[in-house]
Amino acid sequence: MLLRLENVEFAYEVGPEAWSLRVASLTVKRGEVLSIIGPNGSGKSTLLRLAAGVIEPGQGRVWLGDILMTEMDRAAVARRLGYLPQHIRPQFDLRAGEIAALGRRPHLLGLGRLRRRDRTAVEAAMRATETLHLSERLLSQLSGGERRRVFLASVLAQEPRVLLLDEPTASLDLHHQVLFFRRLRGLADSGMGVMVVTHDLNLASLFSDRVVLLDRGRIRHRGPATDVVNAEIIKAVYGPELRVDKHPEIDRPIVLPRTAPPP
Ligand code: ADP
Ligand code: MG
Repeated sequence: MLLRLENVEFAYEVGPEAWSLRVASLTVKRGEVLSIIGPNGSGKSTLLRLAAGVIEPGQGRVWLGDILMTEMDRAAVARRLGYLPQHIRPQFDLRAGEIAALGRRPHLLGLGRLRRRDRTAVEAAMRATETLHLSERLLSQLSGGERRRVFLASVLAQEPRVLLLDEPTASLDLHHQVLFFRRLRGLADSGMGVMVVTHDLNLASLFSDRVVLLDRGRIRHRGPATDVVNAEIIKAVYGPELRVDKHPEIDRPIVLPRTAPPP
């Protein structure tokens, strides 16, 4: 087990009336892609922030391996855990290559110079996100999707054991969305644990081992995509505008928008 949330409860002090997140148990294991789905405001980002140790639960515990998150300093956390927030507002306008290299920071010693091993990791991450050609470009001069891919490169360069991603493919074109989820699958297959928040039910279905459906701060369903992404559940949570079908290549559910109300 790489990461575990145990009897976690959280409420924002100035948040919406009576909204809280409550999770009795949630683990991320080696080698798995765990997708978190759910409507807007269901608590997906809050769950990820708790798992990343960015906010602390009012009650309960978060374990990173066999150590309590609250007992680790940020650098120690960052050597094991990579976290990509939903929104990033960079304070400085850096070049894409510099952003990607920042991912190595938790691993650097002394003067903080990149060694050959660090440079290899950065280059591999930029290759995987197809951002190598953007290296010298300033962040402010990139498109939304290109910028997003540069941040993804940074968190991949970090080479953590567990990766938490909040809507990583939200502004990416379809090519880069599929490429990125395939990459996540590959990373998990080589031993990483991945927890990814996404609104794309199809990518969640096709590339993850388990799907967790959050609704109003509670886990309503969890299990393999074939169990969670089914017609009744999707209708109950997202409404009647969608239909659930089967992917033509593999035995996984896919979700399609209806053009007219169901008969
Ligand atoms: P999701 O990522 O599933 O869309 P969030 O976890 O961002 O949902 O938000 C869950 C609930 O908490 C929402 O009702 C949202 O309005 C509220 N919320 C999110 N962030 C804050 C914050 N920093 N302060 C107060 N309330 C917040
Ligand atoms: Mg969110």
